[in-house]
Amino acid sequence: MKQCTIKSPCVFKGKGIHSGKAVEMTVLPAPENHGIVFQRIDLPGLPCVKAEISNVYKVKRSTSLRYGKAKVRTTEHLLAALFCLGIDNALIRLDSEELPIMDGSSAKFVEEFLNVGIMEQNAEREYAAVCEKIVCEDPKSGSRIEIEPADEELFDVTIDFNSRVVGIQRANLDKNVNFAEEIAPCRTFCFFKDVRPLLALGLIKGGDLENALVIDEPKGYLNDTPLRFENECARHKLLDLAGDFCLAGKHLKCKVTAYKPGHKINTEAVMALVKKLNDE
Ligand SMILES: [Zn+2]
Repeated sequence: MKQCTIKSPCVFKGKGIHSGKAVEMTVLPAPENHGIVFQRIDLPGLPCVKAEISNVYKVKRSTSLRYGKAKVRTTEHLLAALFCLGIDNALIRLDSEELPIMDGSSAKFVEEFLNVGIMEQNAEREYAAVCEKIVCEDPKSGSRIEIEPADEELFDVTIDFNSRVVGIQRANLDKNVNFAEEIAPCRTFCFFKDVRPLLALGLIKGGDLENALVIDEPKGYLNDTPLRFENECARHKLLDLAGDFCLAGKHLKCKVTAYKPGHKINTEAVMALVKKLNDE
């Protein structure tokens, strides 16, 4: 497979879910072997930070990257859209630290990228393959991620929040699943009981019922809009997982099986994968 980029720039305006700050983001085509690079056009010197695992610096409720003075926050939904549509090269200009949350999913990003079109470039795409299984575990949370050899890129997610409303849900992504239609529209979520503590931590200041599902245990969802899928939460966690795996900088010839994933274990698993690739 060849590397790809988008055919024309795409502009997104919105607010950050954690900062609540207004942001304009422009995703531009980029040359072969450029990778995915963020640029802060609001900072002196217009510093850049590449979407790669070594630049991860915060994983609390979203994935944030930093390189020198350039910080970008909540990268996972845009990166999932780029990664799963096979867009290898893009320059992302931001006039604020946090990416726009849009409707809490990747739907708008995917829609715009498909709208302008995706263009094949000349250079070959690189793949990450493993010879043996990699296992990452967090005994405290019970989270676990396994990366196994496979001929294609596969993701399989199971979530369990001990919630009567959400239950135990599972979602998977392989070539029979249409990412744009079946995964990208799935929204982020949080539990109503966590809203106050998260606000106290300075998080979710831009969160509302238009950009997140809110679960009021054991009653149900607080949103008026219907669920887009019965297992929308698991599908969203798959989206987050794929967005974090974009930070490997390569597409996968691996199967990633995640139980109770989150940004901390996701990025630890990507780190373990990249380390293994560098050691081999
Ligand atoms: Zn998310």
